[in-house]
Amino acid sequence: MNALRRIVTSEVPSMAIDEIVIVENSSVLQDETIAHRMGLIPLKTDLDSYNLPEECPCQSEFGCNLCRVTLTLDVEAKVETKTLYSGDLVSENPNVVPVSDKIPILKLAKEQRMKLEAYARLGKGKNHAKWEPVSMCAYKYYPNIDITKDCSTCGKCVEICPRRVLVKKGDKIEVNDLIACTLCQDCVKACPESPPAIRVSGEENAFILNLESTGALPPERIIAEASRILDKHLKELEGEIKVKKSEKS
Ligand code: SF4
Ligand code: SF4
Ligand SMILES: [Zn+2]
Repeated sequence: MNALRRIVTSEVPSMAIDEIVIVENSSVLQDETIAHRMGLIPLKTDLDSYNLPEECPCQSEFGCNLCRVTLTLDVEAKVETKTLYSGDLVSENPNVVPVSDKIPILKLAKEQRMKLEAYARLGKGKNHAKWEPVSMCAYKYYPNIDITKDCSTCGKCVEICPRRVLVKKGDKIEVNDLIACTLCQDCVKACPESPPAIRVSGEENAFILNLESTGALPPERIIAEASRILDKHLKELEGEIKVKKSEKS
């Protein structure tokens, strides 16, 4: 499960602006700052139509139509201060555009202009965080809560639970929100019975994975890609295993 999580954050590719040619910048911000901001704009990723630059047959530093998307921007504040948004970027591929039009990049004062050409490429989170397709990915064991017949219904476990997992209903303690349990064991420690009348453990082979996509790819696609990459790594490992028999055996 942790291998899958790590692959999600470091190996599932997504598109991000990787190179910029600034034609004109009369704003107060330096070119480098603008380039950094542009790189961090999440882009909708078309994984099926593009190659990672290192895997593209072109093997060109500049890239080709199969490994690079060009986006242009040309905005001038003619009459008054103008905010430049991600939506001002014009992409050559309508499938590769910012996930939101409302990400501010900078402000142009009257008569200032910003003109640039940006090149987006597929990349991996292990090389730069801008290529991570998720803003968060974490997992926990699926909780298992067992209340034994020794429970006196004192309610101490209900009171102490920071996640409001348990609830007292009449003369019974019930699990109200199992998924919210963090397995912290506070309820077990608070139980006056000896041994405690409540047992909390994590299922051995069941997990809850929480994943928040940046919008670059749908969450299902991210997991599917991560599984495919993990499978590839395992096959590589399988091929690398060599057994050397000791002479004694
Ligand atoms: S282990 Fe923690 S979160 Fe889970 S039910 Fe007990 S007190 Fe609540
Ligand atoms: S603290 Fe223990 S005895 Fe009290 S209600 Fe919870 S499980 Fe039952
Ligand atoms: Zn190429």
